[in-house]
Amino acid sequence: MNEYDSELVRSILRKENYEFVSKEQDADIVMLNTCAIREKAHQKVYGRVHNLRHDRGDKPVLIGILGCMATNLRQEIFEDRSLKIDFIAGPDSYKRLPDLIREAVGEGEKPYDVTLSEFETYSDVTPSRKDGINAWIAVMRGCNNFCTFCVVPYTRGRERSRSISNVIEEVEGLAAQGFKQVTLLGQNVNSYRHEEGDFADLMDAVSRVKGIERIRFTSPHPKDFPDKFIALMRDNPKICKQMHMPLQAGNNRILDVMNRTYTKEEFLSLAQKMRDRIPGVILSTDIIVGFPTETDDEFEDTIKVIKEVEFDVAFMFKYSERKGTIASKKFPDDVTEAKKTERIMRLNEIQKEITLKKNKAHIGEVHTILVENPTNPRSLRDKVGRNDGGKLVTFPEGDYEVGSFLKVRITDATPHVLKAEVLATNS
Ligand code: SF4
Repeated sequence: MNEYDSELVRSILRKENYEFVSKEQDADIVMLNTCAIREKAHQKVYGRVHNLRHDRGDKPVLIGILGCMATNLRQEIFEDRSLKIDFIAGPDSYKRLPDLIREAVGEGEKPYDVTLSEFETYSDVTPSRKDGINAWIAVMRGCNNFCTFCVVPYTRGRERSRSISNVIEEVEGLAAQGFKQVTLLGQNVNSYRHEEGDFADLMDAVSRVKGIERIRFTSPHPKDFPDKFIALMRDNPKICKQMHMPLQAGNNRILDVMNRTYTKEEFLSLAQKMRDRIPGVILSTDIIVGFPTETDDEFEDTIKVIKEVEFDVAFMFKYSERKGTIASKKFPDDVTEAKKTERIMRLNEIQKEITLKKNKAHIGEVHTILVENPTNPRSLRDKVGRNDGGKLVTFPEGDYEVGSFLKVRITDATPHVLKAEVLATNS
């Protein structure tokens, strides 16, 4: 979402005749678009600002903080004199950036705008994208769920969706520019709702745009997968058979204190339904270990669910308190760092084995992949693409264009990548 928001910011400022330079050292203004989801992101931003000030020495530069962290930590950022931040803009205030920059040059108080809007969707701004094969496109913003560990409802406000017709207009433009794949974005993307239709209607409409061959979406919530959507995903060849289902925890008491609104049993039955109805669907998930009060036995329940579902991929995080969240007010962060580390390492080991097993099961299969990058950073001799399920596939060097489709046979697998031989081009 931040990458997409940066594209919006580029577009808004270009209209005001700002130029974007490729090297930070050449810029008069540097803006850091931030995330407040994880603690490391904060530390990274603080470190980056300090380095920037240090590298610039006496050469003047305006530094602005944008995004979720701006909303969440405005006071703290301005009060930290060592950071010397010149302006701050929250996720709903990017259209005010030209004003904020003008004010920042003046003598008065450092300007900020972190107002949350009930309506802002930037549907009237065309993001200034780099050429590529995948275009991010935000179809809704904000979240109404208030999971107790999460800052998003406070930093990005309530849910609001763009109209289907407005999204389609943008997707048609992307197809005309040569984009082959779109990824629909939203903090809670499958809660998309507009008077013109629901998320399934939107996906169906996007799939009818000529030139767009693959459609992905992120990030969904398990509570919003109606049968209508699952059937569409099964039947529509353009909608990738890749489903991210954030579990977060496998114990019902922890799920309840997280306010996830589903039980372990409901989650398991949804995962089974996905597997039964969408043959070959790739499932991924997010897990938080060490949520306040999580006992060893409760953590064991998460392990049981991980083993039962056998997700293809799992993203795991240690719980860390976010300022302003319900969890930070109600539950002391009482699971020790050592315990969190022990749990995440154990989970990682288990998931690594499952991922390898899942990847090896593809050996011998024929997949269609979209060529993504000219080279695989790990091996200059290999090229890289992604299959329908979003898995990374490497294949030997050859005359294959980025953005083309190839038919490949999977020949080997590691926990991170599938290896393949090319059977045919432009399949
Ligand atoms: S649904 Fe996602 S974005 Fe919304 S509060 Fe929960 S974790 Fe945060």
